[in-house]
Amino acid sequence: MPDSILAADGAAKAPGQAPAGARLLMHMCCGPCACICIQRLQAEGWNITGYYMNPNIQPLAEYLRRREACDQCAEHFGIPMVYGDEAWDLTAWLRQVQGRDTPPERCRWCVSSRMEGAFAKAKELGCTHFFSSLLYSKYQPHEAIREAGERLSGRDGGPLFLYRDFRPDWQAGIDLSIEMGLYRQPYCGCVYSEAERYGKKLARLVRQGKAQ
Ligand code: SF4
Repeated sequence: MPDSILAADGAAKAPGQAPAGARLLMHMCCGPCACICIQRLQAEGWNITGYYMNPNIQPLAEYLRRREACDQCAEHFGIPMVYGDEAWDLTAWLRQVQGRDTPPERCRWCVSSRMEGAFAKAKELGCTHFFSSLLYSKYQPHEAIREAGERLSGRDGGPLFLYRDFRPDWQAGIDLSIEMGLYRQPYCGCVYSEAERYGKKLARLVRQGKAQ
């Protein structure tokens, strides 16, 4: 079921139409990932509320920059936003990844925990479905995101998981984010990924220092 919608009765439906009366909570990881997802799902008639909850985005200044980009998306597409700012706690996050602090375990836990947060918020708000813009990214552990969504779907009478694979929209999403002037981040999110992003530069400086 590579590209499907789980309908209110749990049955698979072809993409292209939102179930009548459905309310979708979209977990938004950042503006560039979210923009094309919102555009595509609105075109199918989904009534979307955005949810920015990403304690993995560090440091705090980066979290706030991506939060602003999500707000920009919400304004552009005319959707309401809710926030999980109280979940941002660097010390708590680092403690939680302890013992699984390298990929793929770290990243699996990171996306699963956000899917759990999205499910809980969607249930609290009375939404019928939940989704995450993480499903757009080629760089995220797609199957782990999907597995978490399917595991949670409908649990205890909660919302259903809306699964869509938006990775084929990769270039369309980039084009749209540039057109909208959204902030495009240079690394995935956590301090580990930031260090990985700039690690080559540091290694070069270390080499140069040794050569002197
Ligand atoms: S690299 Fe990205 S997905 Fe992996 S733990 Fe860090 S923020 Fe999460």
